Amino acid sequence: MITAPNAFRSASGAPGKAYWQQRADYKIKASLDEKNNILSGDETITYFNNSPDDLRYLWIQLEQNVNKKGSEDFGFAQGTVRDSMNTRQMQLLTRAVDFPAGYSIKYIKDQNGNTIQSFVNNTMMKVVLNTPLKSGESLTFSIGWSYPITDRSMFLLTREGYEYFPEDDNTAYLIAHWFPRLAVYNDTEGWQNKQFNRLGEFALEFGDYDVEITVPADHIVAATGDLRNEKDVLSRTQQQRMAKARTSVDKPIMIVTPDEAKENEKEKTNKTKTWKFRAENVRDFAFASSRKFIWDAQAVPLETHTVMAMSFYPKEGLPVWSDASTLAVKNALEIYSEAVFEYPYPVAISVNTSNIGMEFPMISFNGGRPVDGKISDRAKMGMISTIVHEVGHNWFPMIISSDERQWMWMDEGLNTFIHQRTMKERYPNSNYTTPKSIVPFMSGDKDIMRPIMTSSDNELMSQFGNNFYRKPTVGLQILRNSVVGQELFDQAFKEYANRWKYKHPNPADLFRTLEDATANDLDWFYRGWFFTTDNVDMELTNVKWFTVEDQVAIEDKNKKTKFKIPSDSKGEIAKDFSSGPEVITMTSTPDQAYGQFLSRMDEPELRKQLKGKNIYEITIKNVGGLVMPVTIEWVYTDGTKEIDKLPETIWRHNEYEIQKTFIKEKQVQKVNLDPNFEFADTDAKNNSFPKMEAPSDFDKFKEKTKN
Ligand SMILES: [Zn+2]
Repeated sequence: MITAPNAFRSASGAPGKAYWQQRADYKIKASLDEKNNILSGDETITYFNNSPDDLRYLWIQLEQNVNKKGSEDFGFAQGTVRDSMNTRQMQLLTRAVDFPAGYSIKYIKDQNGNTIQSFVNNTMMKVVLNTPLKSGESLTFSIGWSYPITDRSMFLLTREGYEYFPEDDNTAYLIAHWFPRLAVYNDTEGWQNKQFNRLGEFALEFGDYDVEITVPADHIVAATGDLRNEKDVLSRTQQQRMAKARTSVDKPIMIVTPDEAKENEKEKTNKTKTWKFRAENVRDFAFASSRKFIWDAQAVPLETHTVMAMSFYPKEGLPVWSDASTLAVKNALEIYSEAVFEYPYPVAISVNTSNIGMEFPMISFNGGRPVDGKISDRAKMGMISTIVHEVGHNWFPMIISSDERQWMWMDEGLNTFIHQRTMKERYPNSNYTTPKSIVPFMSGDKDIMRPIMTSSDNELMSQFGNNFYRKPTVGLQILRNSVVGQELFDQAFKEYANRWKYKHPNPADLFRTLEDATANDLDWFYRGWFFTTDNVDMELTNVKWFTVEDQVAIEDKNKKTKFKIPSDSKGEIAKDFSSGPEVITMTSTPDQAYGQFLSRMDEPELRKQLKGKNIYEITIKNVGGLVMPVTIEWVYTDGTKEIDKLPETIWRHNEYEIQKTFIKEKQVQKVNLDPNFEFADTDAKNNSFPKMEAPSDFDKFKEKTKN
C-alpha cells in the first residue's frame, strides 16, 4: 500500500524527477432526447502516452453499465427480505419493474476510420489498438454511443440521472459519468481498471474539453467550463443580466427569474439549441439541463481573477436556494482559496437536486428542498453544508487528483477537513466536526470496523461516512491543533496541495510531505490512525502527592531516598488528596554518584527550590491502544487552572503505561486528562483524579432530556 520512494515519487513526498502522467483531450457532441430520455454522443479522444511504456491496449470506463440489471447494487444495496417492505424497497431489492440502462457502443474508430477492436467487461472496455501506442506518442480515436438516462429515484447512492416532476410534466436532467472516458494509467497501478461499484468513485486523467450539448430550445444548461456561445443560447435580456452579474460582488443577479422559469415550464418546444462549452485542465465534465431552472449568478473576486458563482434550481428549491446557494458557493471559494490554493477555474456552480450531493469539476449537484416553502434550520444548514462540501471537492479530488476508486478518504477526508473549517468560520452556528464527533464511531464494534486505509468499495455503507470523511478529518485536526501546530501544519498542507496540483498523489505522498515540511516524525500517528482500528482511551490511574521534608539536619548517607508513608493510608492507593502529601526525605548526593566529575550540584539551592512545593507523580494507562500527546489540566484548591502538555514521544519506551512527575507551587484539587477534547478520547470518565463517580440513573436521565 505504501510504495518505497523512487524516481517517480520522491522520499520528500513530492513528485519525483521522472514523474509522468497521461493526458486525454475530448471533443464531444451530445444530444438529449427528452421524449425518450436518451442521451447520445459522438466523441473524439486524443490520448497522450507520456508513460515510459508502449501500450497495446487502453481501458475505457463505461460507468453507465453499472445501472444494468444485475450490476446496479454489487452487493451493497440491502440484500435481504424483511417481514414488511414498501414497494420502493422491494423494487430496489429485486428490480421487479425492469427498465433499460447501460451503453450501446455504436462504433470505435481510429483516425483513418478503421474499426478498433473492443471488449466490454461490465463497466470497463478494453480497446485493443491496431498498432501499439508508443511511449511519448499520442493517438486520436472516436467513439459513438448512447444510453437510456435512468430515473434517479430507482437507485441508492445515485449521483446522476433524471428527476421527473409530475405536477408540471417536466424533467430535470443531471448528467454525469455519461461519456466513455479513459481510465488512469500510472506508475503505481498500471491501468487503474477496478470496476465502478458506486461507492469508490473516480480515477481520471486531466485534459481539455470541447463539449457541444444539444437540448430542447427552452432548456437552460449548466455545465463544467466556460459557455462559448452565449449569444446563441441566451436572450438579449439574459445576456444583459449576465453582464451585470459579472460585476455584482455583493449579491447574486437573477439570469432566469422564478416567473420566467414558471413560464418556461409550459413551453415544451420541439426546437433545439446547442450549448457550447470549453473546459481546460479538468479531469471530468458534467452538466444539468431543464426548462425548470431558475438561474442566479454573482462575481467572486479572488486574488488574481474573478470567478462566477452560480446556482440553478427548480421552483421547488425556493425560497432557500435563492437565499443561500450562491452565497454558500462564494463562502467555499473564499475559504478554500485561502486554505489550499486559489480556485483556478472561471465558474463554480451549484445545481439543486432531490437528495445527496455530488461533485464534478466546476459543477455540483446538491440536495435540499423545502417542503411547502418551509425548511427547518437544521435542514437548511445541512443543505448549505452539502454545497460547501461539494464545491470544496474542486480541490480534492478534481485538482489534487487522488484515486477515489482506491482511497475514498484521500478526497473525502481532506475535503471534509477544509469544509468543516469553512463551516466554523462562515457558519459558526452550524454543527461542525470536532474530535469529539468521532468518539461514538471509534468506540464502536472493532469486529466490523475497518482501518481508514481500506479500499473504497470494501467499506460498509453504514460506516463510510465516519471512516472516510470524519475520522481522517479529525486526524488532520489533531495533527494541526495538537501535534504539529497550526502554522507549520497549514504550510505543509498547502505544500502537499501545490506539489500535487493537477497530479495523482498516493497516500504516501501526503504522509511524507506532512513530515518533510514540518520536521515531525508522524509515522506513529499514521500507523495508529490510518492503519488500525484502535482508539484513544487514556486512563489517569493514579496521582501521588509528595512534599520534601523541610530540613534535613542529620543526613544518613547510607540511606537512599526514603518515603515516610502517612500512617492512615496503610500503603493503599489514595482515592483522592484528602490524606495529605507523602513526605519524602531527600539525602545529599554521595560523592561517588558524580563519578569523575569535579563539579557539584548546588544542594542548598535545590532544597530551597523544593521547599514547600507540591510534587505530583501521575500514572497514565493507554487503554485504547493509540498513543497520543497528553494534555494535563491541574485544578488548584484556589480554583485556578493550569495546563501541561506531554508530547507523544512520552510513550516511546512503554506504550502501555507512563509516569511523569511535576512540581507545583499550589495544591492540586483535581487533575484532568484531555480537558478540551482534543484527542477523541473515547472514555472521558477515566480521565480524572479523584476519579469521576459513575453517573446515577437520574444523571443519565437528566443528560438525555437536555438534548
Ligand atoms: Zn464528498
